[in-house]
Amino acid sequence: MLTVEQAQAILLGGVVALPTETVPLADGLGRVLASAVHATRAQPPADNSAMDGYAVRWADVAGELPVELTVADLIPAGGWSERELQLGEAARIFTGAPLPPGADHIVMQERTEALDGDRVRIDSTGQGPQDNVRPAGEDLAVGDETAPAGRPLTFADLALLASQGVAELTVHRRPVVAIVSTGDEIHEPGEELPPGHIYSSNSYALIALIRQAGGEPRYLGIASDTREDLRRIFEEARGCDATVSIGGVSVGDYDYVREILADMGEQSFWKVAMRPGKPNASGTLHDAPYFGLPGNPVSCMVSFLQYVWPALRAMQGCTDLYLPTRAATIAHDLKSNDRFLFLNRAVLSPDGTVATTGPQGSGIASSMSKANCLISVPEGVSQLRTGDEVVVQLLPGAGGAQGEPGLRG
Ligand code: AMP
Ligand code: MG
Repeated sequence: MLTVEQAQAILLGGVVALPTETVPLADGLGRVLASAVHATRAQPPADNSAMDGYAVRWADVAGELPVELTVADLIPAGGWSERELQLGEAARIFTGAPLPPGADHIVMQERTEALDGDRVRIDSTGQGPQDNVRPAGEDLAVGDETAPAGRPLTFADLALLASQGVAELTVHRRPVVAIVSTGDEIHEPGEELPPGHIYSSNSYALIALIRQAGGEPRYLGIASDTREDLRRIFEEARGCDATVSIGGVSVGDYDYVREILADMGEQSFWKVAMRPGKPNASGTLHDAPYFGLPGNPVSCMVSFLQYVWPALRAMQGCTDLYLPTRAATIAHDLKSNDRFLFLNRAVLSPDGTVATTGPQGSGIASSMSKANCLISVPEGVSQLRTGDEVVVQLLPGAGGAQGEPGLRG
């Protein structure tokens, strides 16, 4: 049996970053730049005022206060003055406006009194000359990295790129991922169910997970357990960047997926020392990566997170492929099977303790919806005790699941 890491290495070995495309800045959230963007201009572009108040020369206000100065200039935001401020003078200035030449200090309006005849009285000042002055380039100097390649862009990256005047981004294409559901007992939600049949819950988990991983799902529907129908549906995946199928990869009489794949593409099948998700069928279909996930709902989702998630990120040019992990303290005893790496659905609390969601059967999809993480119990460990340190893998989007603001512990 392979370890999870060995299976991941094989699967990712065949994956390359997709070609690039140009998108408008506003569509950049979650996209991955083809190369880092560096600042071509200083931000802010000039020394400017952090306050509404008066620009002065520090030498005029560094001594005994109050002093009176002549208001010799007026600079609103968007203004620009080339008139050098002289000793004994102040310039009325507003937040974001560039300092006039000669000025090196901003006195807040609240520390002044406007007097008759273009005079102002300065009652107190800040600590030093550069107080309330935002120096040119304090956010970004020319040449600074504005946004990195190799990870999805965040709202803050987009703000920085906008501050540089970048209107378009060169990003890796999102992978288009075909989803194929299989099984005579599987139906679409909304349809009438014959006795003993079930709905295709997995396809909807995968549609969502592919989106969360940055891909574009293309759901092809459900194939019945016949060679002909599987062939038809796999043909429909032609042109996609990857294909994910659900079910039909075990050793049952009606599990034809591997046979059809061996014929239409290249098919490998391994047992991985991971539970849930021991069987793993993968390979290539139409010269693109193929992932044959198990049909049991939890196995399907957990396998996706270990194999398809990193592959889709690699296709987008990410360098950091895997879901984040944390150290945590387990809140109860937990038995495990020392032949497998077990991934237990669990809830990580803000205090760093973690507890399973209850029964862990691979068909219990509700264990996944209650969870915000997976407790990883590696091979070789058969028993954990309350208070033991464990590694947890955070589920996508689960980081902020918390009922209270929580800012004060
Ligand atoms: P299989 O690998 O096809 O034998 O499927 C294993 C188990 O997963 C069976 O109980 C199937 O009914 C179930 N299953 C297969 N596909 C789906 C699906 N799309 N949604 C929910 N359950 C599924
Ligand atoms: Mg089946």
